[in-house]
Amino acid sequence: MNLLQRSSQTLRAAELIRHGFKTNIVVQDTGLSSNTIRTLYKEVQGQSPKAGQLPSPASILSTTQALLHASIFMAHYTKHIESNSEDRVDINLLIQAYNRYRRELKKWNDNNVEESRLLSVNDSWVLARGLVAKLVQVHLCSSGHFYISTPKQRTLPICPFCKSHQH
Ligand SMILES: [Zn+2]
Repeated sequence: MNLLQRSSQTLRAAELIRHGFKTNIVVQDTGLSSNTIRTLYKEVQGQSPKAGQLPSPASILSTTQALLHASIFMAHYTKHIESNSEDRVDINLLIQAYNRYRRELKKWNDNNVEESRLLSVNDSWVLARGLVAKLVQVHLCSSGHFYISTPKQRTLPICPFCKSHQH
């Protein structure tokens, strides 16, 4: 990486940190070292990054509600994905899709959903990465709902929209 590439990747990394991405995602996206990203994180956020592994797609899809939220996000993400970005996560697209997901939830006036039960931007990256790795599959149910599944998820791999309408 030359100096110019390095400085543009550093700016990009700072932007991703401001968006709330974990350091290992920022490392993977920018190709900068984890030491550089940790130092940058402290400069941007004023504190050291929290340690912690990323969740697996299966652990994110642990409830019908989580599956529903993840499916809404993924519908926005896959709608705009370019065929040339199939081998990596398109993080700009991911941020747009994540913002659309958050706006869509507000529109539903689903205010009883606690923040901690919403899909985080890091969860959304894990799911998008799962799509690239073919660990996350997309489906259309017989009623035309778009939803996702992953092996060993902790909730039934059936359409979460149809399932929640039954109650
Ligand atoms: Zn359905």
